[in-house]
Amino acid sequence: MAEQKRDYYEVLGVDKNADDAAIKKAYRQLAKKYHPDMNPGDTEAEKKFKEASEAYAVLSDPEKKRQYDQFGHAAFDGGAGGFGGFDFNSADMGDIFGDIFGDLFGGGRSRRANNGPMQGANIRTQIRITFEEAVFGCDKEIELNLKDECSKCHGTGAKPGTSPVTCSKCGGKGQVVYTQQSLFGMVQNVRPCPDCNGTGKIIKEKCPDCYGSGFISSRKKIAVTVPAGIDNGQSIRIRGKGEPGVNGGPRGDLLVEVAVSRHPIFQRQDMNIYSTAPISFATAALGGTVRIKTVDGEVEYDVKAGTQTDTRIRLKGKGVPSLRNKNTRGDHYVTLVVQVPTDLSREAKDALKTYDDICCGRAVSGGKGKKKGFMDKVKEALEDD
Ligand SMILES: [Zn+2]
Ligand SMILES: [Zn+2]
Repeated sequence: MAEQKRDYYEVLGVDKNADDAAIKKAYRQLAKKYHPDMNPGDTEAEKKFKEASEAYAVLSDPEKKRQYDQFGHAAFDGGAGGFGGFDFNSADMGDIFGDIFGDLFGGGRSRRANNGPMQGANIRTQIRITFEEAVFGCDKEIELNLKDECSKCHGTGAKPGTSPVTCSKCGGKGQVVYTQQSLFGMVQNVRPCPDCNGTGKIIKEKCPDCYGSGFISSRKKIAVTVPAGIDNGQSIRIRGKGEPGVNGGPRGDLLVEVAVSRHPIFQRQDMNIYSTAPISFATAALGGTVRIKTVDGEVEYDVKAGTQTDTRIRLKGKGVPSLRNKNTRGDHYVTLVVQVPTDLSREAKDALKTYDDICCGRAVSGGKGKKKGFMDKVKEALEDD
């Protein structure tokens, strides 16, 4: 990650406004050109292939694309809080290959096998938190089964006192090369060795504790610090809590996807919160103070005289904190809904009638409280004469 990453659009050579079809097409072309099966042993091509695949993984996913357009690479980087929107592992890549190459390679793709140190796979899990926990952050503990190196055989999988022997099929390389006729001519296909499953070693006598796997699973409790401002569907990356590495490689990561429960009155969009609050007809007309619920508790708000129903007001800084800096907060928008009174007392009804009569310019006494019609006015005019 030390290298400066190129812009994903630049990597694929497409315009920022390119549609899905254009992005897919651009990736297909690059992937065909740089696919490791087409360029055996070419690390530069492999790098380009991975770069293009990463760009495509993001830009082909509407949610990731939105995050990338908003935050750039920062949206997915580990960063100080250990937060990552998503990650790349073989599973992600597998999806893309299935999508793009399903028809091209006839599903004959394989995971590149080598018996050097390899990072362990990432583990994914999910936690559910409340609306407020997402807004302000929280500490959670999750339990899951984690593999550790077997202490009896120190991860070799061989019975103590014995050691694994070099695989004779692949000569310890862990991979075998097949030559195959394909759409692009003869291609060399590298596959994991079927005899040793890519390890390069054959275990003759298995370790009795781990049955030859070299790993022991146990239930572990893991503390998860959920950063303030996290949104539904985002993931927290906990480094080194994934599957153990192979041949001395580092452990994979644990990716905890956050599911945020709905709130009965608040809705959220990015960093802003939305809600509605009732106000009485009199407060709307005369102005006055109302109490409004926010995630920080109730606040008092001075409603202006003559406020119409569905007026939206803004409570600045009462929204969701930014994941990057929790002192930067969104706003809370409140829609004021004027309540039409129902269960009125006799007294209240009379007061309202009086009010209505005054407002509509009618005499309080006189007539039957009915507005003067055209004929009344004609009559009056005649009488005056
Ligand atoms: Zn063992
Ligand atoms: Zn082998």
